[in-house]
Amino acid sequence: LKKRFKSYGQGARPVKSMAVLGAGIMGGGIAYTSALRGTPVRLKDIAPPPLALGMKEASRQLARQVKTGRIDQAKADAVLATIHPQLDDAGFGEVDLVIEAVVENLSVKHQVLSALEGAVRPDTVIASNTSSLRIDDIARPLARPENFVGMHFFNPVPVMALVEVVRGERTSDAAVSTAVAHAVRMGKTPVVVKDCPGFLVNRLITPYVSGFLQLLADGADFAEVDRVMEAFGWPMGPALLQDVVGMDTGGHVGDVIAAGYPQRMRPVTRNAVKLMVEHRRYGQKSGAGFYRHG
Ligand code: NAD
Repeated sequence: LKKRFKSYGQGARPVKSMAVLGAGIMGGGIAYTSALRGTPVRLKDIAPPPLALGMKEASRQLARQVKTGRIDQAKADAVLATIHPQLDDAGFGEVDLVIEAVVENLSVKHQVLSALEGAVRPDTVIASNTSSLRIDDIARPLARPENFVGMHFFNPVPVMALVEVVRGERTSDAAVSTAVAHAVRMGKTPVVVKDCPGFLVNRLITPYVSGFLQLLADGADFAEVDRVMEAFGWPMGPALLQDVVGMDTGGHVGDVIAAGYPQRMRPVTRNAVKLMVEHRRYGQKSGAGFYRHG
């Protein structure tokens, strides 16, 4: 890896401590994995219940590490103590990197990141874990777009190796290098990709999910499709994938990619995912999606 990413090692800013915005499915996993690999994390959310969920997930992951003998209880306790849950920006002036993992909504990200710029140092690198929005679109209101970069993790973060590092038009080499170096430190495999709706992986996955939703509209049974794709050799079928991703997030990603490639994808107003969002069946995170969970 060091050899492959040598050119990005240049100018990486040291990340002694960091912050994660959003303690949901992704933010909780990013905070846990960074802390496990030695970076203290300030984990921020807007309300106590999601913050508590993020911390609970970190404890669960650490308990699993202890159970499988990878670390002992003392190490697990020490790692957990380096994840600091908070509802405000306390200590943000000291962090070297912030990874934003709030909802996939452009105006929410604009608000959150503009406010963040006022709370961090001028040299702090700010990364977005967006799965589909263009980095240049998110960067529009920012005063320091050179410090802004995409760091697209995959779900579940502790398990999935790939991180798409997205270079926007105004992203500096130092910001790209810092993101690559931090991904490597987390034990991940970073790949630097161009800035476009859906980047690389979601441009491949979205047409697949869209094909699945068309199969359902044609009368297919979702559980049968899942069984077929598992027998085909994929780790999970498309229905369970949507449950794991979260129906709301998956729906936003589909919309962003359809809007980004209007000649290739038709915008969809009604499909199984949209229906489930209307009924608040978000998948694993709400206890039910295509399947019941928990
Ligand atoms: P989620 O709904 O599980 O979590 C989002 C969290 O952000 C919630 O806890 C919410 O309370 C919090 N939040 C909202 N506004 C906030 C603010 N102003 N400050 C701090 N926290 C705030 O969503 P998620 O699935 O973790 O997705 C987060 C981001 O990661 C999105 O951009 C999404 O596209 C991206 N992503 C998701 C997946 C996935 O599989 N779910 C994969 C890759 C990337």
